[in-house]
Amino acid sequence: MSFKDAKKHTTLCVVDVVGTERISPNIIRVTVGGEQLQRLPDHGFDHWFRLFLPQEHGETNFDVPHRADTIGYLKYLRMPAATRPHLRNYTVRAFRPAARELDIDFVVHGDDGVATRWVQRTTPGDTVALLDQGRGYDYPADTTYHLLAGDETALPAIAGILRDLPRDAVGLAVVEIPDPADAQPVDAPDGFEVRWLHREPGTRPGSVALAAVTAWTTDTPATVSAYLAGEQALPTSGRRHLVDIGVPKRRITFTGYWRIGTAH
Ligand SMILES: Cc1cc2nc3c(=O)[nH]c(=O)nc-3n(C[C@H](O)[C@H](O)[C@H](O)COP(=O)(O)OP(=O)(O)OC[C@H]3O[C@@H](n4cnc5c(N)ncnc54)[C@H](O)[C@@H]3O)c2cc1C
Repeated sequence: MSFKDAKKHTTLCVVDVVGTERISPNIIRVTVGGEQLQRLPDHGFDHWFRLFLPQEHGETNFDVPHRADTIGYLKYLRMPAATRPHLRNYTVRAFRPAARELDIDFVVHGDDGVATRWVQRTTPGDTVALLDQGRGYDYPADTTYHLLAGDETALPAIAGILRDLPRDAVGLAVVEIPDPADAQPVDAPDGFEVRWLHREPGTRPGSVALAAVTAWTTDTPATVSAYLAGEQALPTSGRRHLVDIGVPKRRITFTGYWRIGTAH
C-alpha cells in the first residue's frame, strides 16, 4: 500500500466530534466517534484520509463521493457550493475501533484556512466525514535503515510509523516543531533516534528538518527507506539530496502536505 493506491479506497464515515483538547501550544486534538467507524480499516502507520468539514454558515450536505479519483472529485465540485463541505487531508493520530473513536491532531496556524478556523471553534456534536485513503509509507522488506522527516503537520504520521514499525527497526526520525512543548511521547523502536528540532519564529517552516536531512548521509544508501512530508520544499528538496547520495528513488516516500501561500 502506498500513496499511489489512495484512490482505491472507498470507505466513507460520517462521524461526530466527541471531544477537543489543546494538547500543546500549536496542536488541537479532536476526537470523533460514531458507529460508521466500524467500517473503517485500521491501516496503521501514516493512515490518512480526506476530511470533509462543515460550511462555516448554514447547512452542509455530507452525501459526498466515496472515491477521491478524478470522477469523484468532479462530482464533489458539482455539488452546490452553498452546501458542499470543505475538503482537506488529515492523518489518524489514534484509532480505537472497539470504542468507535479516532483522534486527529490539527496544527493551528492562525485564522487563514477553513480547517484551522474550524478546529478552534468546533464543539461536541459537530458532524464531519472521513474518506479513507490508506497509508502512504511503503518500505521494502530488505530495509536496514529508516529515515523519517517532517514538520509539525507530519508529527501524527511519523508517530504512527514509529508505533507500527517492527520493534527491531533502526533509523532516525526528525520532527520540526514550532515550540519545544509541541513534542509528544512516541512509541519508537529502541534502534531509533528521535530528534525534535525547534523552529525559531520567522524561520521558514520545514527548513530546519530539511537542513537535518541534507546533513544526513549513509554508507548503505541502497537499503535505506525514507519518508519525507511537510511543507512542499522539505519533501522535494529532501528527496533530491537522498537521490544525490544514492538512495534509490523507489525507496523514498515523499509528499507535500501543504504549501506556503496555497490553500488546499
Ligand atoms: C496526507 C496528508 C496528511 C496530513 N495530515 C495532517 C495532520 O494530521 N495534521 C495537520 O495539522 N495537517 C495535516 N496535513 C496538512 C493539512 O492538510 C494542511 O496544512 C492544510 O492546508 C490545512 O488546511 P487549512 O484549511 O487550515 O489551510 P488552507 O486553507 O489549506 O491554507 C490557507 C493558508 O494557510 C497556509 N497553511 C496551511 N497549512 C499550514 C500550516 N500547517 N502551517 C502554516 N501555514 C499553513 C497555506 O499555505 C495557506 O496560505 C496533511 C496533509 C496531507 C497531504
